[in-house]
This record gives sequence, C-alpha cells and structure tokens, in this order.
Amino acid sequence: MTVVLTARDLTRHYEVSRGLFKGHALVRALNGVSFELEAGKTLAVVGESGCGKSTLARALTLIEEPSSGSLKIAGQEVTGASKAELKQLRRDVQMVFQSPYASLNPRQKVGDQLGEPLLINTNLSRTERREKVQAMMQQVGLRPEHYHRYPHMFSGGQRQRIALARAMMLQPKVLVADEPTSALDVSIQAQVLNLFMDLQQQFNTAYVFISHNLSVVRHVADTVLVMYLGRPAEMGPKEEIYNRPLHPYTRALLSATPTIHPDPLKPKIKIIGELPNPLNPPTGCAFHKRCPYATERCVTDEPALRLVDNRQVACHYAEQFIEGNTA
Ligand code: SF4
Repeated sequence: MTVVLTARDLTRHYEVSRGLFKGHALVRALNGVSFELEAGKTLAVVGESGCGKSTLARALTLIEEPSSGSLKIAGQEVTGASKAELKQLRRDVQMVFQSPYASLNPRQKVGDQLGEPLLINTNLSRTERREKVQAMMQQVGLRPEHYHRYPHMFSGGQRQRIALARAMMLQPKVLVADEPTSALDVSIQAQVLNLFMDLQQQFNTAYVFISHNLSVVRHVADTVLVMYLGRPAEMGPKEEIYNRPLHPYTRALLSATPTIHPDPLKPKIKIIGELPNPLNPPTGCAFHKRCPYATERCVTDEPALRLVDNRQVACHYAEQFIEGNTA
C-alpha cells in the first residue's frame, strides 16, 4: 500500500492579543498530531467544535502553514517546498467544505466551474476539458443539461455533488472533507456519502473525513482520530475504537451516539461542563475537568500518547478500560 499523507508532530499555534497592555497569548489550536494515510483509505477526525479538526484540515490542504512538525504529501515534504512544488502539491490535495453553496461561485455556470481546475493546471484543449467535465458530471449523477446551469438552480445534495466533482477533477491523491454532509437533509446524506465512497474506490483517493457525527464516521472510516482541545486523545482502527473505546472522552462521545439496539446494561457516560478555553488550557490532562475518572495525577501530569490494545491513547488509566478490567 502506498502512503500518500504523512503528518509528524504537526502543530499550529496562533498568537492572539489579550487586550491593551496585556501582551499576547498563544493558542495551541493543533498539537502533536501524527499519522500516516494510505491511498484509498479514510482517516476520520472527530471531536467537539474547537477541538482542532478544522485547523488540521487547513494545515493538510496547505491553506495555512503548520507552526512546526512535518507534513509529507506523496512523499514530498511541504515545509520548505518551492512555489512550483507547492503548486503541484495543491493539485494533489483538494477540499470539500460543509456548505456547498458557499464554496461554489454563484455567478459562474457549473460546467465552467468544473472546467476551471483543468484550465489552470493542465494543457487540455477546450473540447478535451468539456469532455472530462461531462464525464465527471455523469459520475456524480448530474445530467448533461446541468452543464449550463448556475449553482442556485440545484438542491443542496446536487450542489454537494458539484463540489465533490470539482474537487475530484484533477484526481487528487488526498481529499479533505470538512463536515461534507452535515448541512444536508438526512434523506440525502446517505446518497452523498455513498457517492464519496464510490469515487474513492474508483480513483483510489485517500480521504481525511472530518465530522462530529459518529454514525457517519462509522460508515466511512478505516481509522479514527479523536481530538480534544487540539490534541489527539485516541487513534486507531475503526473497529477497535467503536468496539472498545479506551479514552474516557471517546467513551463519552460514543455513549451519547444513538444506536438502533441500545444496551440497557451499558451505563451512559456523561461529559460535564464545556470545552475549556484554549487560551487557558487546564494543567495535566486537558480533559481532567470533565473526566469522571480523573485523579490527582491527571491534574498535574499530562498523559503521553501511547500504544495500548492496538491503538494510541492519551490517558494514564487506559488499561483499566479494556473489557474485563475494572473501569
Ligand atoms: Fe481522565 Fe485522567 Fe485519563 Fe485524562 S488521564 S482521560 S483525566 S482518567
């Protein structure tokens, strides 16, 4: 299998003003994120708003430069890349946003919008571009007459199909999708998700799928990365995470997800309080103020991300949550 995306200790920090005469503070929006992603596989990133998911998406799509760490796309290091190299790398990583309407130009016909990436990045003739656009439109379930229509003439689901078609026009190695179905009607979500998966199979594209919806993630992911306050809390194969979550935060997220056959014997784990202020993060484990299992050690010692039971987890007591051990 070919690794197409490698992140090593990726960080993104922002300096923000505390106010007049109060100096600056550092927001650690992304801290110590590392993973490898193979072609044709999906890494799903989950967590509450403010956990660093979108910052990670912006770093991976080269919209923002990481503050430190290493990011490789198809083996090519991004930091320190020349302008020409960055241009090529941007072709290889495309993005689909939450709101398809906001990401499409309302004044440009759909056919022209789909042809634009080819116009900018290839030497194809007008006819060849048009043929490619029409082939892609067919693949995402649009009809030939849609070529001359404007985005406002489509439904939400069709607009997300257009956005996906545009992102796939250059057959990128990596597609980053930031909550791509959360703005759609529930009845349409499954169709659009299936389209994502069909195109992935066809083009062998690696997906980074960002979502707060754990049911959607279960459907699409190969690997799951759970983030909390800019840091990885738990990361591993989907089955391990869903069948035996070890981090209390993952356990709480999963226990709040509705299921068709809820287990009445499984106690619900409630997260108390709000996500802490990233300007003033808690000491020790960032989750300790909301964690029902926190001890004094959690207040002072930051847990390292370590391998436990076939996944990486950042909790001092992860072993206790393995089935059969007392939690
Ligand atoms: Fe909870 Fe402590 Fe584990 Fe953090 S280290 S998740 S506070 S038990």
